[in-house]
Amino acid sequence: MAGILFIISAPSGSGKSTLVSELRKQVSGVDFSISWTTRPPRGSEEHGREYYFTSREEFERMRAESMFLEYAEVFGNYYGTARHSLEDARRVGHDLLLDIDVQGAAQVRKSMPEAVSIFVLPPTPKVLRTRLRNRSRAEGVVNESELYRRLSEASKEIENYRDYSYILINDILDRAVAQLEAIVLAERYYRNAEPIVYRSSRVLEVAAACRQSNSRERLKPVLEAFGIDGISGQQQLPFGDDLDDD
Ligand code: 5GP
Repeated sequence: MAGILFIISAPSGSGKSTLVSELRKQVSGVDFSISWTTRPPRGSEEHGREYYFTSREEFERMRAESMFLEYAEVFGNYYGTARHSLEDARRVGHDLLLDIDVQGAAQVRKSMPEAVSIFVLPPTPKVLRTRLRNRSRAEGVVNESELYRRLSEASKEIENYRDYSYILINDILDRAVAQLEAIVLAERYYRNAEPIVYRSSRVLEVAAACRQSNSRERLKPVLEAFGIDGISGQQQLPFGDDLDDD
């Protein structure tokens, strides 16, 4: 394998974690970087499985020692990718997948322009709101102002879609998983690291359709629903007018 660096970003509630865990079940040779964070564990999260949980002081010490490939502050907490994740994956010839926010993705793209970046969008603000609300319920906190803040944050983050190589619209999970898998296989193929022995032309077609440059038509209604002007990338309305019911 080529040791490709994949970056995946999405607004909170886009279903990115489910997509990533499905990809990991279906494609071998992709390692997942476990980030460091100063946010406390949620629900059944475990240190060393979802994240390495640490204090702000310890995070700042690690940052001062340049231990992070990238880091960012998201919703008031620090998150960072340890440099050694990349070195570890390279040593064994694996690809590496970073699930990081738009700020971190911009840092990685700058230092490693060969990285393949994928942006995941929820299909509509209504779906996003339902997912965020269900997540809050599962965590035992339903806070309307927090929900509003996250929706507003999501709309802002979506404006960054233009910086990504590929766009996934997470409408139907199976389809989005197949698209993500196709992107990984196609990138391996293009870098001559791994021939696609079967389904080859179909995989390349699916991946090509997800390229940002080929996503205009698919993206248009989604951007409109989020009140984002597809041409300038500027936000026009808070969340479009698609928020009436769940
Ligand atoms: P959550 O707290 O919901 O798990 O993650 C919040 C956000 O932080 C998500 O957008 C996630 O992609 C991002 N994130 C997780 N790990 C990292 C990291 O190492 N670096 C950066 N920049 N963002 C991260």
